[in-house]
Amino acid sequence: MKLASRVSLIKPSPTLVITAKAAALRAEGRDVVDFGAGEPDFNTPDSIKNAAIQAVESNFTRYTAVGGIDELKDAIIRKLQRDNFLSYKRSEIVVSCGAKHTLFNLAQVLFEEGDEVIIPGPYWVSYPDLVLYTGAQPVIVNTQEKNGFKLTPEELEAAISEKTKALIINSPSNPTGCAYSKEELAALAEVVIRHSLMVISDDIYEKILFDDMPFWNMAAVNPALKDRTVVVNGVSKAYAMTGWRIGYAAGPEPVIAAMGKIQSQSTSNPASISQKAAVEALNGDQQVLVEMVREFQKRRDYIVSTLNAFEGVSCLKPQGAFYVFPNVSALYGLSWKDRKITDSATMTEYLLEEAEVAVVPGIAFGDDRYIRISYATSMSIIEKGLERIGKALRRLS
Ligand SMILES: *Cc1c(COP(=O)(O)O)cnc(C)c1O
Repeated sequence: MKLASRVSLIKPSPTLVITAKAAALRAEGRDVVDFGAGEPDFNTPDSIKNAAIQAVESNFTRYTAVGGIDELKDAIIRKLQRDNFLSYKRSEIVVSCGAKHTLFNLAQVLFEEGDEVIIPGPYWVSYPDLVLYTGAQPVIVNTQEKNGFKLTPEELEAAISEKTKALIINSPSNPTGCAYSKEELAALAEVVIRHSLMVISDDIYEKILFDDMPFWNMAAVNPALKDRTVVVNGVSKAYAMTGWRIGYAAGPEPVIAAMGKIQSQSTSNPASISQKAAVEALNGDQQVLVEMVREFQKRRDYIVSTLNAFEGVSCLKPQGAFYVFPNVSALYGLSWKDRKITDSATMTEYLLEEAEVAVVPGIAFGDDRYIRISYATSMSIIEKGLERIGKALRRLS
């Protein structure tokens, strides 16, 4: 059967592929430590679960408005005001089935053949494919480890052409954990304004920031950018709600209306029950976040110092999210038995088969020198996995 050619523009998400591989080994009875996860290991807080139960019991189980119920839009508006000092109207908010869905719809309404979209690398696996699927071209700008994996104004300037439509910024970042300061964003904002670009600000890790670092996005640092920024966020990462599928966008009314139109002919509304749960997540007691972030920070500190003690491994200290992105390229060229480590894919295979630890190869995020380790798992599993990695790396010669 001949499939539509647009299908061949994209590939399956590589992080989901690793998770499936680790699950298959586990099904064979092997005790695999999974550092591949892209979701919090915590359970959804009880107050949020109760709001969903309440929604079911009161038969809040029918179609809702396509772009989300007003109660949820109002909770999002309050959140954006409270946390980001940004004011929006209901017509400037659309709720979708997860932030990934939000980004998909947004790419569909903004980009087309002939457009270029700047994506700083290492990047989240889905950005290039979301852009490619529209017929536009992703332009990857590789950031430097010495700059904390953050795009500089000079690098941005150099990547812009007359075709450039937008810049995608993700802070804190998946996979590096790096986060931009207010000053760094303000410097990028000047370039964005000078070239009249749009900004897609993927704020999904907003709440997972360490050492009391304040969160900023482009729209908040420079009011002149609010009209050309679409803020994308959701409840998945902050409230341990990945399976509920609620994400949202806040931005210029024509963009939001177009996203609603696409949604009206595809998914319709996000699940009514999940919307009620998300209202509780955004309006309820935010103390749950403080405890979760404290735990993530403890894990980060342990994992960064342990990794840096391994010979041939160097790991920058992330400011947020729940990933570390160690450079393991000093070990490339080494072997064990008949096996030679030559890149991040062979390193990942070696670790999975010899150490029974699943990590994600850096090449999936656009840089072959690194691997991504997720620490969204318990401290005891982190200790076990790192000990195995350390042993396996010492066996290389
Ligand atoms: C997890 C993730 C998302 C998508 O989250 P949803 O579960 O779809 O809301 C978006 N961007 C980044 C960078 C992510 O890591």
